[in-house]
Amino acid sequence: MTIFNSNEFYDHESVLFFKDRTTGLKAIIAIHDTTLGPALGGTRMWNYASEEEAITDVLRLSKGMTYKSSLAGLNLGGGKSVIIGDPQQDGTEALFRAFGKAVHRLNGNYIAAEDVGTTVQRMEWARKSTPYISGISEGGAGDPSPATSFGVFNGITAAVKYKLKTDSLRGLTIAVQGLGNVGMGLCGYLHEAGAKLIVTDINRQSVQKAQELFGATAVEPEHILDQDADIFAPCALGAVLNDASIPRLKVQIVAGAANNQLEKPRHGKALRDLNILYAPDYAINAGGIILISNEAQTSIAKKR
Ligand code: NAD
Repeated sequence: MTIFNSNEFYDHESVLFFKDRTTGLKAIIAIHDTTLGPALGGTRMWNYASEEEAITDVLRLSKGMTYKSSLAGLNLGGGKSVIIGDPQQDGTEALFRAFGKAVHRLNGNYIAAEDVGTTVQRMEWARKSTPYISGISEGGAGDPSPATSFGVFNGITAAVKYKLKTDSLRGLTIAVQGLGNVGMGLCGYLHEAGAKLIVTDINRQSVQKAQELFGATAVEPEHILDQDADIFAPCALGAVLNDASIPRLKVQIVAGAANNQLEKPRHGKALRDLNILYAPDYAINAGGIILISNEAQTSIAKKR
């Protein structure tokens, strides 16, 4: 794979590769744009099928962070990191300490935080090697996910008001894909607001929890796109809106937490052509980054 000719390379400022033999760390940090300030963005740990897949993900995610911070009015740039490995088995303290050392080499130009496959605990291990970690519990804002859930809930409410001309979610059916830190919290808000939930996750325990807590209807992951619902809320991984999935949608609104929902920019137009309102991920999932932005600014201020 070539980087400069990649479709996902949008004049990123830096793309850095780190390998640590002792701990098995393989990480990539991409800094997309620091015009507004140092790049803040989470660290994703995932069992990528190939290095190409990891590079594509980090390039796409870091660009999205530039949009997210600038739209949220934060003095921060866009960056992101990925660790190639199994988040269930390989996420040791030693590996995250080694990752912290990698972040430290960038001297505060990139600040890491939690994302899919990483936790507050893991980022606290990384914090032992560098101050440039945000979203830690002691002396920090902690897990950004609850704030992200709340922001997405508000984003869905705004989309409903615009598209369906109502202030209330009562009686609306919302199909939620992914019941992780953000998706489960979002379901709580939606349930409280009187929405009916159709849910899915590859983790059966999470599905059971949503059934018990919110009376949600469960469907298999491969069926979530076909549901007769008012809203589809993608809260798992990216590129879920593509040539194959869009024609299957029966909803009026797509609004969720997952980063980079559109596989390609043209898929935004494809949704519009079907009269489906799309609330861009980087606009409605900024709650968490808004929460941890102060903490990030503090770590930078300490550097000066
Ligand atoms: P998470 O890892 O806690 O949850 C993701 C969930 O998706 C897991 O339960 C996983 O089992 C499930 N999943 C994965 N593939 C699936 C599939 N094919 N079908 C159904 N479920 C599937 O992650 P999270 O922190 O909840 O983040 C969810 C999304 O929101 C990610 O795209 C993340 O980048 C984005 N996001 C998170 C935050 C945050 O504050 N955590 C902020 C902004 C954006």
